[in-house]
Amino acid sequence: MLDLCSPAVIRDIQTRYGFSFSKALGQNFLINPTVCPRMAEACGGEGCGVLEIGPGIGVLTAQLALRAKKVVAVELDKRLVPVLGETLAEFPHVKVVQGDALKLDLQELIGREFPGMQVSVCANLPYYITSPVIMALLEQRLPLTGITVMVQKEAAARITAAPGTRQCGAISAAIHYYARPETLFAVSRGSFMPPPEVDSAVIRLTLREKPAVAVSDEALFFSVVRGAFSMRRKTVLNCLSAAFRLSKEPLKLAMEGVGVAPASRAEQLTLPQLAALTEAVQGLLPQKGGE
Ligand code: SAM
Repeated sequence: MLDLCSPAVIRDIQTRYGFSFSKALGQNFLINPTVCPRMAEACGGEGCGVLEIGPGIGVLTAQLALRAKKVVAVELDKRLVPVLGETLAEFPHVKVVQGDALKLDLQELIGREFPGMQVSVCANLPYYITSPVIMALLEQRLPLTGITVMVQKEAAARITAAPGTRQCGAISAAIHYYARPETLFAVSRGSFMPPPEVDSAVIRLTLREKPAVAVSDEALFFSVVRGAFSMRRKTVLNCLSAAFRLSKEPLKLAMEGVGVAPASRAEQLTLPQLAALTEAVQGLLPQKGGE
């Protein structure tokens, strides 16, 4: 097996394939040999399928292949497809799919590629698409057991913060709705080639069998969450009144009616309170399809 963590091996691949790192595609490849085995261990073992997003030259893919029954790796950069053909040649149970993980029909891909298998996602992605990718995976209700992903250190703290605590943001509330997030370990910027300007952490989201709270209108729940967190210094009353163009007095009464203090800040609210707030807002909105 090629030592894909070795900068010399990476430089050799670059020379032979005329490959240069793309900043636009967030290509910072892992060179710390301890990171990929630890990420791969978090993805379930024998008999499991793993969908990897952004394999790069395959350093994490190889570690996943050593442990999983099947790995499907989705890579956007066409230039890396022949490279992956070489670096993963010894793993017949690895399939590389060239495409954009945000545009592919992953529901269909998982059904086709992993019949009867428990499937998880593993990814070391460009930081600017980690949140959109995580949310897309969750919102599509893909049949996944978990998502193990490298994120910027600060994003890890934000994502794993429990609703009702100071670091919580709209993304933490949305993620806790679908999953139980935890930080597994920290990764320094020196673990990558070229090194990024920030440190990282690997987080794991264990998907819940059903959402953490029941809401009658999921789309409205997420609008309420986004609205409540839209202006961090303002009260939830002010945020929601602005977000939904609602008069303050009836909104205040509706909030009190569901037991949420109008003067509270979004980061003080638990998921059940955010769900209750959704029902309060729903009662004040014009009925869909109504006059
Ligand atoms: N997994 C490799 C590693 O750990 O060394 C590469 C990680 S690098 C940070 C991110 C990879 O994601 C790159 O190979 C990049 O081309 C790929 N990528 C970027 N956007 C993508 C997208 N929308 N869909 C699939 N892959 C993408």
